Amino acid sequence: MATRRAGVLGWPVEHSRSPLIHGYWLARYGIDGRYDKLPVAPDDFEAYVRDMPRQGFVGANVTIPHKGAAHRLCDRLTSRAARLESVNTIWFEDGKICGDSTDGEGFVAALDSECPDWMDRHARALVLGAGGAAAPIVEALTTRGFDDVIVANRTLAKAEDLSRRLTCRAVPLEDVDAWLADCDLLVNTTSLGMKGEGAFTFDLQRLPPHAIVDDIVYVPLVTPLLAAARARNLRTVGGLGMLLHQAAPGFERWFGLKPEVTRELYDRLAADVAAS
Ligand code: NAP
Repeated sequence: MATRRAGVLGWPVEHSRSPLIHGYWLARYGIDGRYDKLPVAPDDFEAYVRDMPRQGFVGANVTIPHKGAAHRLCDRLTSRAARLESVNTIWFEDGKICGDSTDGEGFVAALDSECPDWMDRHARALVLGAGGAAAPIVEALTTRGFDDVIVANRTLAKAEDLSRRLTCRAVPLEDVDAWLADCDLLVNTTSLGMKGEGAFTFDLQRLPPHAIVDDIVYVPLVTPLLAAARARNLRTVGGLGMLLHQAAPGFERWFGLKPEVTRELYDRLAADVAAS
């Protein structure tokens, strides 16, 4: 059988850590496969994807700016990808292009792994941000059974758009203080706290002591938000777990084996981020 190929389609794609993750699993399970960075400009995206099976590809991850285009191109979609109108994982089946959105699954899998009792209290989640990463997280939280998901965003119209498509409420980011007191889970999906970006100014003192703070930003590994939460002895979850767990469903589709997110892989990725 020919070497099975997969990769990550993006523009630019140089920053992607997906090859490190999939390369680790391919080596660990002794699979005859390869996973490459695939820089493809938006104008070339459709033709490139249609030609992938001929080049030996079994599928690919899709990142910025192609997630919407991939959604439009797919012949078959999982129900969550259809709801989110976004695709980050494609595979080829019976001559058809198939797509899924695995970010939400990765987000909840990281919480399951790092805070196994996180669903014990699921009355209210406060999600900061309404960009590409927020939608699958809101969808995953409501699917899991969170009663009330509030999306706070700088541009209120984007949060309102999410609230029309998914089960959540929209509030302006400057009102966050008012929502912290009754919050079981606080999730940052904005780029605030990322290396080189600004940071939040609100006061975490208002969060209840049982609240969990999850920041999906993973550069740096410990964001100012996570540091502030730890200083208050709150439980925290960083973004690396989500990055690792969102990769697993694609690997399983392409290479036929459910990969394990091991401590060794986590540490390798953390070392790579720390060196950047
Ligand atoms: P995006 O679509 O560009 O959305 C960016 C979000 O950040 C928007 O809500 C935006 O608000 C907000 N924002 C940006 N600058 C801000 C500021 N100065 N003040 C307040 N809000 C600000 O980006 P994305 O794809 O959702 O990614 C967001 C972050 O999540 C990135 O750091 C990315 O690396 C990380 N991420 C992590 C994972 C993981 O697996 N751990 C996966 C995906 C993304 P406006 O709408 O007002 O502009």
